[in-house]
Amino acid sequence: MGINVTPVAGLSDEINEWRRRTGELINGEILPYERELWRGGSVEGSARDGDQARDARHARRERVKRAVVAAGLWAPHLPQEYGGAGLDFMSLAYVYEILAYAVGAASLFGIAAPNSGNATILVKYGTEEQKQRWLLPLIAGEMESGFSMTEPDRAGSDPRSLATEAIREGDEWVINGHKWFTSNGWAADFFIVMCRAEDPSGEFARNGQMTQIIVPAHQPGVNIVRGIGIFGRDSSDHCEIRYENVRVPIENTLGRVGQGHQAAQDRLGAGRVFHCMNAVGMMWRAFDLMVERSLVREVHGGLLKDKQFVQGFIADSFLDLQSARLMTINAAERVARGDPDARTAISAIKVFVPAALHRVVDRAIQVWGGAGVTNDLPLAQMYLGARVLRLADGPDEVHRILMAKNILRRYESGEGWNFGA
Ligand SMILES: Cc1cc2nc3c(=O)[nH]c(=O)nc-3n(C[C@H](O)[C@H](O)[C@H](O)COP(=O)(O)OP(=O)(O)OC[C@H]3O[C@@H](n4cnc5c(N)ncnc54)[C@H](O)[C@@H]3O)c2cc1C
Repeated sequence: MGINVTPVAGLSDEINEWRRRTGELINGEILPYERELWRGGSVEGSARDGDQARDARHARRERVKRAVVAAGLWAPHLPQEYGGAGLDFMSLAYVYEILAYAVGAASLFGIAAPNSGNATILVKYGTEEQKQRWLLPLIAGEMESGFSMTEPDRAGSDPRSLATEAIREGDEWVINGHKWFTSNGWAADFFIVMCRAEDPSGEFARNGQMTQIIVPAHQPGVNIVRGIGIFGRDSSDHCEIRYENVRVPIENTLGRVGQGHQAAQDRLGAGRVFHCMNAVGMMWRAFDLMVERSLVREVHGGLLKDKQFVQGFIADSFLDLQSARLMTINAAERVARGDPDARTAISAIKVFVPAALHRVVDRAIQVWGGAGVTNDLPLAQMYLGARVLRLADGPDEVHRILMAKNILRRYESGEGWNFGA
């Protein structure tokens, strides 16, 4: 059936047109070939298929990318001067829900995590030299990257507790630390590594301030221990890495010493809104799949659509999807207008939307029966993704605590919460 995109009231003609053309490419060029496009993504698929099949998949992906470039829709998240389309924050949010409707579509539009987040940080904090060396090849697809923050021995939900250190020696940082869950670790040409910077000379920092440092992946001392097996698989591209006496020039400092936490928040704050709009797009797809299946599948002498259990699934999923979408748009609007309560709204969607996605996909799987957990449909992958989203970028509990603190502070100062904003 495909995603049903119509103009959104209140959005500019330009963005509505952008959404329409994105939807057209998703429906025409990606959905009909979805399995074919990504089969190579699974190790089993790659091993079984011959070179010809792999070449055909690659050729199809390249064809879609060329169509995206020709339509002027490439890299909507990056400024025009860096080869992107320079969409503003709100427009991006509205485009992401459409991109997320099809598995992997975003990467065919030049947006692939963690590269896209790293590119955004390089645009904001990078020096001209860093942009030439790391950002431009990243955008051109000639380089890959990873973001290395979480550590096995410290709580990722409390990033200020991180222990990886960068000690200045002359014109270099010497980095020692143990990270894990650095996504895209095998392919990465460089990592943005969150460190505690210590400069005995006192020129930059003495007391271990959070700092992001660009580390080439092939630098001596960058030791990838393993791709961590997740959800029953033996391996993944989420890597455990030991940084052992890794030396990089001081010029690889991304932003100022001490700005690392802020840079991570910049990345995560906007990123959470985008993750949630992606989740809305995935829910939309799962919802369509569920309803479409109910119209044609006969069980026990009748169509699924006529069974009240299934009608309940449809109604509950509608409630989840519509409320998740409106909450996310409200949070995005607050971010866009610099509302001081945006932080609370972001935490609220970060708790609510992944859980709603989890519920909607779960019901869609149930309606599809055994087929729901096969690789023939994107539902199983979405289900696992939804589970991870409840941990990544701050687990639910951390966001609930933050929400409650902000709300209580407001009431303690004698003011109620303004749900009308
Ligand atoms: C598939 C995947 C990909 C990832 N990719 C990356 C990546 O590319 N780069 C990167 O740096 N990291 C990445 N991560 C790591 C992710 O960001 C962390 O797992 C997450 O921040 C949680 O940190 P933690 O695992 O150390 O859990 P902990 O901090 O140990 O927390 C464990 C649990 O404690 C509970 N908890 C935490 N705080 C509180 C509290 N105050 N009150 C009550 N309960 C609490 C929560 O339930 C939480 O889930 C990835 C993780 C996964 C699963």
